[in-house]
Amino acid sequence: MNKHLWQQKWVIGNWKMNGSLQENQQLVQKIHQNLENMDSVCIGIAPPTVYLSQIHNIVKETTHNHIHTCAQDVSRFDNKGAYTGEVSAQMLQDIGVNIVLIGHSERSLYFNEKNDIQRIKIENVLRTGLTPLLCVGESIKEREDGREKEAVAYQLSILKGLKTQYFAVAYEPVWAIGTGKVANKEQIADMHQFIYDEILSLTGNNANIRVLYGGSVNENNAAEIFSVPHVDGALVGGASLKYESFANIINAAQKA
Ligand code: PEP
Repeated sequence: MNKHLWQQKWVIGNWKMNGSLQENQQLVQKIHQNLENMDSVCIGIAPPTVYLSQIHNIVKETTHNHIHTCAQDVSRFDNKGAYTGEVSAQMLQDIGVNIVLIGHSERSLYFNEKNDIQRIKIENVLRTGLTPLLCVGESIKEREDGREKEAVAYQLSILKGLKTQYFAVAYEPVWAIGTGKVANKEQIADMHQFIYDEILSLTGNNANIRVLYGGSVNENNAAEIFSVPHVDGALVGGASLKYESFANIINAAQKA
């Protein structure tokens, strides 16, 4: 990815297990045609794996080259082999993927993916020259117990010793994902500052950092969230499935 993207706001749509060939074509075509001039925003679309090539074929025609194809996950196994159902980082790179989500809380909840597996996945992604986007965030119990920073620090600890100077993290409090409950400005500011400090202390002062907020971001709250210090963009779930709401969030990022 171009170096200047590390100074931009990122807006990444995580479609989760949604979409169809026809719906995707309409939505991405509209984004592609109407958001060409959003050149201070790094836009990403993370569809289900089967649709990655479809999305890439639409966005690769973009003249400003700022709409990125993102994968929601990657195999912990490298290259090729007898791993039925798996898709490697090399395969994602082969079809034009730029960014790979690692450690989304739904992967942790339903597939029991924890730090050890996430670390292997990040290393595989970096080895292929793609950009990992590590998702971190505390549970409601951890926040109620006042252990939210401890939880996030533990998740971030896998960044230590990686062979890169580029670190993209999405702070997604688990209690805010898909619930309509957004963390407040103070909570976001406090955690984003903490994540910046942690990354710098784990990886050194040369780190290029993007910290996105995720958790019930929508067209009505995006501008306020983008005004919080150290918020470098958003990872958007539900609101990325409709053109109007996703476009309005991207517009808010462009103006921020
Ligand atoms: C997500 O899936 O990463 C997410 C933040 O979802 P939502 O925006 O729907 O809360």
